[in-house]
Amino acid sequence: MASIAFIGLGNMGSPMVVNLLRAGHRVRVYDLQPEAVHRAAGQGAMAAGSAAESVQQAEVVITMLQSGTQVDSLYVSGPDPLFDHLAAGTLVIDCSTIDAATARATAAQAMTHGLEFIDAPVSGGVAGAEAGTLTFIVGGTAGQFARAEPILSQMGQKILHAGEHGAGQIAKACNNMLLAVQMAGTCEALNMGVNNGLDPKVLSEIIKQSSGNNWVLQLYNPVPGVMDKVPASRGYQGGFQVRLMCKDLNLAMELSQGSGSPVPMGSAARALFNLHQVAGFDELDFSSLLRLFRPIEGG
Ligand code: NAD
Repeated sequence: MASIAFIGLGNMGSPMVVNLLRAGHRVRVYDLQPEAVHRAAGQGAMAAGSAAESVQQAEVVITMLQSGTQVDSLYVSGPDPLFDHLAAGTLVIDCSTIDAATARATAAQAMTHGLEFIDAPVSGGVAGAEAGTLTFIVGGTAGQFARAEPILSQMGQKILHAGEHGAGQIAKACNNMLLAVQMAGTCEALNMGVNNGLDPKVLSEIIKQSSGNNWVLQLYNPVPGVMDKVPASRGYQGGFQVRLMCKDLNLAMELSQGSGSPVPMGSAARALFNLHQVAGFDELDFSSLLRLFRPIEGG
């Protein structure tokens, strides 16, 4: 079993730590929010008072932060760069969804410190993090992928190698742009059906068994009460916040512009999520986009 430092105990990081503990690893945790550290300590993790303290004796470091700026600041450019605290040979796994350029630059910095860094953003949401069924999308060398795979397998079901450093982030941005399009399309279709007298449960079931079937309908229905245990059925709390989806759509727009790839559907989804964000729904789960179509749905 490995000594693992885990930094970033938010909606995703907290349940990922629980799965590492269940697998028998020694996990030392840190988050800027002391209550998150306290909660993880109650579940069997060792609490650290700083990022530097959390990596003492760590063979593996995992981060689950919000943005590329946070990742760069923690490891490289902040007041106490974490790379200075790691022993040569340490495996560093960044699971945050960030821009590919920062992932590549961080990997290059890691190399100068004799460290092994991979980008490993995830798909599957909070439910996947809790159930240990996440998909990890890895960018790094074949050797780094092979070394990380056994650890990632304890938090996920599918561990996929996208290519060299940054490739995991590119694949993740493509995926999330498509997810945003699916969510927007599913919201407008369900809203149209309900406005024409259909029961959202019945309509969802019909589309699931027809050619409009998609991941949102299967696992993440945006209409309150249609599915248990999804953010829509608990006031859109928890889950994947609108501001994080907007961040991911901005990453997708950068990729589209940098490569001259037209993304009319992704651009439309980004406009819808931006409108929803500035209307004050920043902190709600992204399935709350339904409120753009049905302002009173969900209370
Ligand atoms: P979150 O905001 O709930 O958690 C992020 C945590 O990082 C917070 O607790 C914050 O305090 C902590 N943090 C930030 N900077 C830190 C630092 N320097 N040191 C220590 N802790 C620090 O976010 P989340 O929903 O858990 O998402 C994390 C990442 O995973 C994001 O990049 C997101 O895009 C991605 N993601 C989220 C989901 C989802 O469903 N929530 C799904 C797939 C991918």
